Parts: sequence; C-alpha cells; structure tokens
Amino acid sequence: MTRSIYTKLVAIILVLIVALMTVVGAFLMQGVRNFYVESFYTQMQEIFARTDIATDLRAAADSADAAELMAEILRANMGRLGIDSDSRNYYILDGKTGAYLTGSDAEAGPKLAVTRNILTALSGSEGYEAGSSDSYMDVALPVSGESGSYIIYIIDSKSTMTSLNAELFGIILNAIGIGLAISIILSLLLAKTMVTPIQELTQAAKKVAAGDFSEKVENPAQDEIGVLTRTFNDMAGQLERNIEDLKSSEQVRREFVANVSHELRTPVTSIRSYAETLADAGGSLDAETEQHFLEVIVGESDRMAKIVQDLLLLSHFDAGQTAFSYEEFSFEKSIRDVYEAQMLEAKKHHHSFQLEFRCALPAVWGDRARIEQVLINMVSNAIKYTRDGGRIRMTAGCKDDTVWCSVRDNGIGIPKADVDRVFERFYRVDKARSRESGGTGLGLSIAYEIVQRHNGTLTLKSQQGKGTTITMTLPVGGPQDA
Ligand code: ADP
Repeated sequence: MTRSIYTKLVAIILVLIVALMTVVGAFLMQGVRNFYVESFYTQMQEIFARTDIATDLRAAADSADAAELMAEILRANMGRLGIDSDSRNYYILDGKTGAYLTGSDAEAGPKLAVTRNILTALSGSEGYEAGSSDSYMDVALPVSGESGSYIIYIIDSKSTMTSLNAELFGIILNAIGIGLAISIILSLLLAKTMVTPIQELTQAAKKVAAGDFSEKVENPAQDEIGVLTRTFNDMAGQLERNIEDLKSSEQVRREFVANVSHELRTPVTSIRSYAETLADAGGSLDAETEQHFLEVIVGESDRMAKIVQDLLLLSHFDAGQTAFSYEEFSFEKSIRDVYEAQMLEAKKHHHSFQLEFRCALPAVWGDRARIEQVLINMVSNAIKYTRDGGRIRMTAGCKDDTVWCSVRDNGIGIPKADVDRVFERFYRVDKARSRESGGTGLGLSIAYEIVQRHNGTLTLKSQQGKGTTITMTLPVGGPQDA
C-alpha cells in the first residue's frame, strides 16, 4: 500500500509538471514566432509607407542606373531595415520578369525563388503577405519610374527566430528538469506525511484485530486522516468495552449455571440418601424415623420445586415473556395485608413488628400480586436475618409522584463488600443460614426485576451487626408502557 501511494502521488505530480511545462513552452515558442513575424511586417510597412525611403526609391527609379541607386538607398538604411546580410537581405529585381539585378547577397540573389509576394509585386501590387508555414518572410514592393519598373525585395530566413526558439527550448527543458527534481522531493515529503499516519493506523488495526487494545493512535491533525484516526480510536474503545461486557456476562452466565447445578444437586442428594436408607431398611425402621425421613424427602422436593419455579420466573423475565397484569390498587392496603400476614412469623421469632404510614398513600398503577410478593420478600428477609427478639419496622410514605415502603431491622446486617451483590442471582452472604430458613438466594433478584418493570427502585442499606433497611419506591402512574 505504501509503495502504491508513494508511486501514485509522485507519478501524478511528475506528469502534471511535464504537462504544464510543455503547454507553457509551446505557447511561449508560438508567441515568440508570432511576435517575430508580426514585428517584421509592421516594421517593413512603417518604413516603406511612412518614411522618405519610399520617396527616395521612387525618385531613384527615374534615373538611368536606377537599380544601383536603389541598392545604395537600401544599404544606407540597413540599420532601420534590420538587414544583416545573413538572415535578412535586400534585393532589387526586375519589375517585369522578377530577375535579380543587385542585392546584399550576390550569391543567393540569382537563385531567389519566385514567392507569392514577388508574384504580387510583378502584378503591380505591394506584397506584404505572411505565410505562416513558410520557412521565410518577405516583402516585395513594385517601384516604377522613367527608367523602368523594379521590385524592392526584402527576405528574412527566420534563422534568428529559430535560434531564439532553440534557446528558449533549452531553457524550458532546464526548467522542466529543475521542476521535476523539486516536485519529486515535495511529493515524497507529501506522500510521507500522508502515509505515516496511515501506516500507524494499519499497525493499530492489526493489534486490535489480534485483541490488543492497549495502543491509541495519536494524530491531532484536523484533516481527513486526523478525523479517521480519532474515529478509529473511538471504535477501538467501543469494541474494547463491548468485549469486556461480553466477558463479564459470560462470567456471570458460567457462575449462574454452576450455582443452579449446585443448588439442585443438594436437595437431590439428600432425597436420594433418605430414600435409599428407607429402601435398604425394607420396612425395618420404626414408624417415627420413617415418618421423619419421608418429611425430609417431601421438604427437599418442595425446595427443589421452589428453586425451579423461581428460575423459570427469572428466565421468563429475561426473555420478556412474563405478562404483568396492571391495575389501580391500594398500595396502603397491600402493605397492611403483608404486614398482617407476616405478623405470625414475626411473633414466632419474638420480634417486635411495627407498621407506620407517613402520609395517606395514593392508589398505585401496577401488578398488585407481584408488588405484594416484593413486600413479602422484604419483610421475610428481615425476619429471617434478625436474631429472635429483634425489632422490625415497616414504614411507608409518599414523595412527589412516587410512593415508598421500607423495612428496617436490627438484625445481623450485611458486610460492606456484599451489599452491592445481594441482588445477584443465588448470592447469599451466609449460605447455611439462608438454606436453613428455606431461602434460595433468588428472592431479591426476582424482587429487583419486578420493581424495575414498574420503573421503580429497590435499594438496600446495611451495617454488619447493626441491621438492614431495604426500600422500594414506585411511580404512582406505573411504568410508561403499562
Ligand atoms: P434468600 O432466599 O437467601 O433470602 P434473597 O435474594 O432474598 O435470598 O437475599 C439474598 C441474601 O441477602 C440473603 O441470603 C442474605 O444473605 C442477604 N439479606 C437479604 N436481606 C437481608 C436482611 N434484611 N438482613 C441481612 N441480610 C439480608
């Protein structure tokens, strides 16, 4: 890629320079040619029409040695006429035949070709016509007098112009050479400034493709490559975050599967061992022990069924398949119902259990049964995780367009490190204690999902050894989509 951009850029600039110089050179040379021809004819016309040379020539035509006299006049005006006897010469020709009489180049004179302008002069008119493709330029003027008719003929071989153009051509070639050298250097520098950031980007892209996101490409330029670089960095950052998210959700998934297997294996193991003991005994156990074994088997089966049921509910939440039946219901009545239903359990553990309303609660739009399920979970956790004889207080109130209910206990509390994790599936601070009290570690996860579906919040504050407060808030109007 590098070579291609370098080559392309250098080639384009070189072609451009050569083309430009050629066009300029061609125009320049053509300009010189035109100027040279034009100035020759203007000069001749001015001299022969406006100066006394013409008058002198006409007067000379009357004398007997007219040709010599005319030649003398022309010789005397060689400077004005630009006669150098080399590229430009004058001749006196016979006005009737065009034959050479005398001139500045006696050698070339007799061999003069009969040009268009000489023919014009022979017919009596002035020949000032310039032929653009001719290798010469000439003027032929008829002059008649008493001694006869003559033609004053000036011819220029254009050799001065040709050598001037040759010199110009050399200068242009030189200029092309220098221009090429400069443009090669410039285009290499230009290509380098373009190619280097692209190379850096390519390297970084290769690293990203190999999973290494550590390198960020620096390019503060405001041009397209600068923008591309920053976009690349953003893309790499986003990609890195996505991969991190994927990794952590993969980790959560693995942990979840491991937890499910473990949670289900425990009851299965104890069911199996109790059932095996019963089978092995073949009826030899006393009725009381048999009854106890059977109760354990039933208890463990119930536990398994509850775990499976909770998991099914969570997976339905995840898939968005759980239908919520929204209605307007009295939040206050739900709280009272839960309070009364849990009172017996609280009493069993000798807890003082109180209920307080801070305001008259408005009716709420939501799924009553599921909200009550959350309330039950909040209270039953407080009962479970508070030593017998503890204090549990349910408080409810309202703020703006929301209602809230919190359950505070002075129980065992949760260590700081675990507080943020209690809403995770199967997360339990003390597995044995949770299991003993029939917990599955899924209660708060389910509660969290339910409250979220209502656009509410569920927050937990706790201090180890001091107690826990869990608070649910709900928007009175329910979720937007309900
Ligand atoms: P579980 O079925 O184990 O009660 P939850 O999801 O309801 O599961 O709660 C998760 C964990 O959070 C519990 O195992 C317990 O360790 C902790 N927890 C919940 N509520 C309280 C509380 N009021 N006091 C102390 N710990 C609590």
